[in-house]
Amino acid sequence: MLISIASGKGGTGKTLVATSLALSLEESVKLLDCDVEEPNDHIFLKPAITGREIVYVPVPSIDKEKCTCCGVCSEVCEFNAIAALKSTVLVFPELCHGCGACSYLCPEEAISTVGREAGVVETGYSNGVEFVQGKLNVGEAMPVPVIRKVKEHIDQAATNIMDVSPGTSCPVVESIKDSDFCLLVTEPTPFGLNDLELAVEVVRKLDIPCGVVLNRVGVGYDRVEQYCRNEGIPILLTVPLDSRIAGHYSRGIPLCEAIPEWKPRFKKLFEDIRKSILSQSGQRT
Ligand code: SF4
Ligand code: SF4
Repeated sequence: MLISIASGKGGTGKTLVATSLALSLEESVKLLDCDVEEPNDHIFLKPAITGREIVYVPVPSIDKEKCTCCGVCSEVCEFNAIAALKSTVLVFPELCHGCGACSYLCPEEAISTVGREAGVVETGYSNGVEFVQGKLNVGEAMPVPVIRKVKEHIDQAATNIMDVSPGTSCPVVESIKDSDFCLLVTEPTPFGLNDLELAVEVVRKLDIPCGVVLNRVGVGYDRVEQYCRNEGIPILLTVPLDSRIAGHYSRGIPLCEAIPEWKPRFKKLFEDIRKSILSQSGQRT
């Protein structure tokens, strides 16, 4: 089972939910941090890291002896990562998406590939939770290869909880696309509503069942609840605006450990998600 935790914007409490959900379950659970530009689940889990794998993106390397400067490679590259000049070919590795089109289509077989380091995937354990996180190198523009490498660690026999980048762009789609359920974390503000609407649009296009966690409830704005009611999206958990919760969060203490009465609430959240997945799969068969 793969449950992704997403949000239309940053700072809504995705990490709070992902870490406490993982730490509240008694069954075998894996927490995958796919927010590779800013992974921070480790701050709360404090895992012992036991494995480290560099992620490489294949980029072209030109054999100047074979190259005739025909220009085919620069014509096919959609990312302007390779430029054929009159007497040489220039490669811009930082723009290359590693799609392989140039080497596949080069008529002289003059293009081989070399690996460009894009990031790292680390694995470890904490409190009975198997932990995986991707870290994108500073200045690296392509998170997707690192996200894919993190997702190779999904264990179909276990419960997988995946913390996803905020927003609704490519890295989010790449992360959530195989999920059985997407939990959308938002807050009761006009910005929270706007970004929730965008996130719901994405999960619906991908045909992924979803539910909402409403964080920092108590600011007096009820249009997020209205929207969820109108759209038939269940609000599965509400977390109040509470300085104690914010204080524990700022010190890197998971909510379910700082205030133990939250543990059963996260267990119930998980049970509700599981029921929703089962009922959706029943409807599809
Ligand atoms: S397609 Fe091959 S032969 Fe043509 S310019 Fe590119 S590398 Fe050179
Ligand atoms: S591998 Fe793809 S992205 Fe990279 S230079 Fe070749 S065509 Fe462009």
